[in-house]
Parts: sequence; structure tokens; C-alpha cells
Amino acid sequence: MKQFKTESKRILDLMVNSIYTNKEIFLRELISNASDAIDKIKFLSLTDNGAVKDFKITLTPNQEERTLTIQDNGIGMTEEELEKNLGTIASSGTLAFKKQNEGKTDGELIGQFGVGFYSAFMVAEKIQVYTKAYKSETGYVWESSGASGYQITECDLQEVGTKIVLYLKPDDEDCKYSEFLQEYKLMSLVKQYSDYIRYPIQMMVTHSKLKEGCPQDKPEYESVSELDTLNSMVPLWKKPKSQVNTEELNTFYKSEFHDYLDPLKGVYAKIEGAVTYDSILYFPSKAPFDYYSKDYKKGLKLYCNGVMIMEKCEELLPDYFGFVKGVVDSADLSLNISREILQQSRQVKAIAQGIEKKISQELKKMLEEDRETYDKLFSEFGLSIKFGAYAGFGMNKDKLKDLLLFYSSKKQKLVTLKEYVEELPEGQEFIYYASGESYEKISALPQIEKAKEKGVEILFFKDGVDEFVAKILDSYEGKKFKSVSEADFSLDGEVEKEQLKKTSEEHKELLEEIKKILDGKVKDVTLTSNLKSYPVCLISGGELSIEMEKVLNAMPNSENKVQAEKILQISADHPILQKLKTLKETDMESLKKYALVLYESARLLEGLSLDDASSFVANLTQII
Ligand code: ADP
Repeated sequence: MKQFKTESKRILDLMVNSIYTNKEIFLRELISNASDAIDKIKFLSLTDNGAVKDFKITLTPNQEERTLTIQDNGIGMTEEELEKNLGTIASSGTLAFKKQNEGKTDGELIGQFGVGFYSAFMVAEKIQVYTKAYKSETGYVWESSGASGYQITECDLQEVGTKIVLYLKPDDEDCKYSEFLQEYKLMSLVKQYSDYIRYPIQMMVTHSKLKEGCPQDKPEYESVSELDTLNSMVPLWKKPKSQVNTEELNTFYKSEFHDYLDPLKGVYAKIEGAVTYDSILYFPSKAPFDYYSKDYKKGLKLYCNGVMIMEKCEELLPDYFGFVKGVVDSADLSLNISREILQQSRQVKAIAQGIEKKISQELKKMLEEDRETYDKLFSEFGLSIKFGAYAGFGMNKDKLKDLLLFYSSKKQKLVTLKEYVEELPEGQEFIYYASGESYEKISALPQIEKAKEKGVEILFFKDGVDEFVAKILDSYEGKKFKSVSEADFSLDGEVEKEQLKKTSEEHKELLEEIKKILDGKVKDVTLTSNLKSYPVCLISGGELSIEMEKVLNAMPNSENKVQAEKILQISADHPILQKLKTLKETDMESLKKYALVLYESARLLEGLSLDDASSFVANLTQII
């Protein structure tokens, strides 16, 4: 008996104990897998010039044995594939799983992995998978009763394909599992979830028929079993848009992309032109657990005249829209297209352009017409769009800048740059922002207090990439970005500016002295009128901000640590200034301690660690 990988075991436990209320979706999952398997063999048999088979999926309920069998004549699995596909769930996801695990409900957990094959354990206490791979001599049977493990043994199989036998659980209060052996139930489940599967889903169905030869005035009926096709087999993307409702669109999404949640939106893109194609694009409602890792593979399902030629065609999506799922079907592609050819294919490029344009349009439309949904989308995938604006030296920034959202201090919600700029008060020349790890921390920055009091709107940048995006955008509609932590940030009018200049002049020697004390730690010490209750703050004196320093140094392969130039600012309106002045005249030793304590405090307020914790504590104690 082989053991499942640890994380798989956890998911299996969840499945077996059926926390997922919608148990019936197991059928949809198994049928989708069967359909994928047929897609694969159909493609191979076409390019191999093999005879095209009579592809189908068969359902066989057996009341006596209490089994439901789902059989396909698709590509089948080799022993290694059985081991790899059914012995592990999300094998690459161990780390991510552990990280994301905390605080998640079981339903969310399963959703992150996709329900897939394992959902069968919601209804079955034992599962057997008989399978023989295309061009293989041997067949295998995989058997498992859930979390205890699984077994693979060789067996004699005639046909290529896969047969899955589910031994249904005994009925209990929660669920009448035996319903899944009823013809009517299976028929309605197929209609509901798998109608557009492009291969016939067949089952022996009992019909009541007029007995042959019986007199017309005395009709007699008899039960006959006939092999019926339960689905209509029209692919959804071939149907006219007007005939498809949201429910059907969503059902198709869940079945096709193994998601347990409805997408935020599904859209049709049917193009007729130089390259003609039908497609359906979806914006998922949750980012997959590995979305922001390099394990994630973007792409759209690519069909050529109804034959699937690629599960995930990366070329059809730019990285920043990598979260979009969907199908594309075009008759203008060649069937035996290889990845190399694909990359150069003029048709694929044209489709990709069309798709990108459509996604942009739809996102803009959502932003304008359904802000709530867009906010949800942005909270899941906004980071991806921000990276897109920054990547490649900003080559796509103009396409993406209007899709960005940032948190506004004033409105206390996400706003677009356009919204920010449109409401700028007379005379404000800049888009102000402040960066930090979280909204709370940014809100607590010394520089923010006064700005808030003055009613100035500030964008809060909490993602590491935000400030880099601002630098690459440089400005929006002529308004430059300015950080509240830049040396020349000021909310003062001309008179106040003059006043500050005068005060600075008066304290020139003091500031020089403190700079000397902080030798090398800061580039300069200046006075500021940007603070309200805080005595000091730390700002950056160069191109690189303190927040960028943190982000860059936190990168896994940052060997050479970068240092932002720092300026210590002392509040011109705080009593501490007078105190420092007095100390300079009377007690230089204490001035030193005060300067060091103030400097370290400013570091703490900026979210930096102390330069020298022990002397900080020593100095502080002595002052107190
Ligand atoms: P997913 O379908 O989301 O990849 P599943 O857990 O449903 O995840 O299935 C895992 C893998 O097992 C599939 O990707 C496929 O390679 C293989 N598989 C499942 N069912 C079949 C089948 N009927 N025929 C061939 N391969 C299958």
C-alpha cells in the first residue's frame, strides 16, 4: 500500500469527510477529466493519421453492486502517470499550501487546489481506476479507499482509455448517495453541469414504449432500455451569445477550469476578420494559491475547429493578464501546430492582440460600471497589473495606468489615478503618496498627521512594487508623483516657507552639530514644518526611497545591500528644538545622547530597525 503525499492526505481527509456541501459536482469533475482525455487522444490520433475512433463517455449505474462507473476511450494513463496524477495533489504546492493554510476554511482550501478527481471521495468509499494508455501494452488498476493510501496493480485491459468505478458510501442523514445510481438523477446532473461536453455522454436509459402490435384503443406499454446520449454536445463558445445565460457561462467555467467558485465575470469574444475565432474569457474570483509564484502557468485553452490542441497556450495572454482563463477556438490554425511554430504564428499573434484588447476593454467597463466587482478583482490580481505597469522599463504602462487602484487617505477606499487628479484642489501640483508595509503603519507615519489635518489626499502605497510603479509612471495627466518622505515635500504656502527658511538659518549651527554627531548615519539634518505632534522623522535624500531600500534588500538574491540616503528632519514647531538649542549651549554630552535617541526613534517610525539597540537603551535611560 502506498501513502499519499502529506498535503494530499490533508485534502483527501477534507474530501472524505465531505465538508464540501455540493457533493454532486463529482460527476462533473470526472466527466470533464474524461473529456480532456478524449481531447488528448483525438489530437494525437489526428496527427498520427490513426483512425478516428468513436469517442464517447459512458455512465453505468449498478444498483446491486452499488457502483457507478464512468468510462472513456480517451488517452488513458501509464503507470507513472497514474502514480503522478492520482498519488499527489498539487505536488509543487507544499510550501504555498503551508503558508496559505492558516485561517482558511476547508471549502476555500479545496477550492485552491481545484476539486478534480479527488472529489469522487465525497461520494465513494472506494474507487478503482482501470486504465490503459495510448500506444501502451499493459493496463493498470489503481485502487484506494481514501486517506489510508492507494495501490497500483497490473491488469489485462483490451481497450485504451479509463474506467472509474465508484463504490458509493452508505446513505446517511446528510446524503442519499444511492441517488447517484438513479437514471433520472444522472440525466439531470449531466444536463445541468456537462451539457456542452463535446463528446456523447451515454447511458442505458429505460423508456416506456408502446408495445408493438397492440390495438390502438387498448395501448399497452413495456419498458425498454436504450443507449441514450444525455448531452447536447454543442460547445458553449459556438452558441450565439444571446442564447447563453450567466448561469450556463459560470457552469462551463467551473467544469472547464476546475474551480469551485463562480467567476467574477465571463465574456464572449467572437471575432471575424483576418483571423476568425470564437472565445470565452473569464475573470476568476480568487487567485489560485500559486498565482504569484513561478509555478503558475498562465494560458488559454486553444482549440482548432473544436479539437483541443493546447491546454494552456501561454502566447495568448500577456503576463499581467495571466489570471484570465478561457477558451479560444479558431479554424485558421493548423492542427499539427507545435510550440515553436506557435510562437511565430501570425495567427496566434493576431488572436493574442485581439484578446488583450478585449480584456482591457472589459476591465475598463467593469471599473466604470461595476466598481464593486472591479475592487474584488483588483484585490486578487491588482498586483499582477502593477507588476505589468512596471515591468520592461514601463513599456506597457500607458496601457495599464488607468486600471490601477490605490488607497486614498481621504476617501478611505481604492481610487484610480484619474479620480485622484480630477479632484485635486487648485494649486496642488503633485500626486502625493506615502509608502509602508500596511495602511495602519502608513497612517502612523509622522508626516501623515499634518497632511491629514490639512485635508490633503494621500495615496497609501502598501505593496512593494507601488513606489516603483510611481517612479516609472513619473506623472499622470501632467501631475508628478511626490512622496511625503521626499526632501522637498511641503504643504506650506509661500509665507510659511519663508518662515521655515529663517528658522533654519537661525539654527544652522545646531543642525551642523547634530549632523556631526550622527556622523555617516544621515546625509543631512534639516528642519521641517510637515510634522504636527512628532518631533522628528526620517526622509530620503536621493532617488532611492527608504521603502524601496526595504523592498530591494528583502529580495531573495540581493547580495549587495542598497542604502537609501537619509535625512533626519526635526520639527520646527516642536519644543524639542528649543531643548536641543539649550543643550548645545550648556551640555554637549547630553546633546549627543538626545541626537542619537531622536535619530533611532525616527528609524523606528519609518519601520526600520534600530542601528544600535544597546546604546539606544543606555542613552534613553540616562535622559529619562
Ligand atoms: P485536474 O483535472 O485539475 O488536472 P484531477 O485531480 O482531476 O486534476 O486529475 C489529475 C490528472 O489525472 C489529470 O490532469 C489527468 O492527467 C489525469 N486524469 C484524470 N482523469 C483521467 C482520465 N479519465 N483519463 C486520463 N487521465 C486522467
